[in-house]
Amino acid sequence: MIDSHSHTLYSKHASGSVDELVRASIAAGICILTITDHAPFHVDADNRLLESELDCYFADIEQARMDYEGKIIILQGLEFDYMPGSEAFTCDLLARYPLDFAIGSVHYVEVPGEPMVKVWDLSRLASDAFLDRYFASLEGLFACGLFDAVGHADTLLRGLPEDVFVRRIEPLLALLSRSNMAFELNASGLRKSSLCPLTGKEVQGLWSYPSQSLLPQLIGHDVPFTIGSDTHAPEDAGAGVTELMRELQPLGLGRISYYQRRRRIDVDIETLLPNGTFTIMKQGGALL
Ligand SMILES: [Zn+2]
Ligand SMILES: [Zn+2]
Repeated sequence: MIDSHSHTLYSKHASGSVDELVRASIAAGICILTITDHAPFHVDADNRLLESELDCYFADIEQARMDYEGKIIILQGLEFDYMPGSEAFTCDLLARYPLDFAIGSVHYVEVPGEPMVKVWDLSRLASDAFLDRYFASLEGLFACGLFDAVGHADTLLRGLPEDVFVRRIEPLLALLSRSNMAFELNASGLRKSSLCPLTGKEVQGLWSYPSQSLLPQLIGHDVPFTIGSDTHAPEDAGAGVTELMRELQPLGLGRISYYQRRRRIDVDIETLLPNGTFTIMKQGGALL
């Protein structure tokens, strides 16, 4: 199993040390784990890595790499926040810390005259004022050229009908394709609550994201896919990743990618499903 999105206590709202996450990942059958704690940012600054902790964070990952060599491949990443105007700050961090994988995610959206909208404010995700700015942010993220993958772009499906989401993102797919960025299939949608389309109440157990109707269009635009549990606790290491691949394979999902030293490596999905023999289909970068 490949899990390219995971958090530790460095994100402050997640639990488990790097060592604990790695041990749980090995137990869950993960062979390639990318640790992607939330990068320093000015919004919610105490709910993520501080710049002063980055050296320690990467040292912990390096230590785990040595401790578990031969048992699991551990890659170092960060999940960056993207907001219009954040490019220079991100560019500076990327220049200072060599990463395997950089995810860009939109978590916060400024809507004039309102408190900042967070993408987990489920009741606020359907307003046109929010959607205009969310998709403008996504456009900026696709265009900025800083990231390897866009994180959970479809998390809005927790509070937004899928046809509205698809209609809004369609005009951006050509740009996404040109950007060479991957679209992340984020398995946390299988665990998170969403608004029931019939009652409008928050419920558990409904498939919200990733978007199943968008998948064929992404494949048609030749967009690569990464996959991750987005675990925030060791017990969720790898959660939902295999189930997601099983559900999406019949819709045409054939390859999953991960990144090493910012280079994309594609893997045949067949080899990632139980009983498959892991093989790398197309080598985008250096050998492991
Ligand atoms: Zn995120
Ligand atoms: Zn995350």
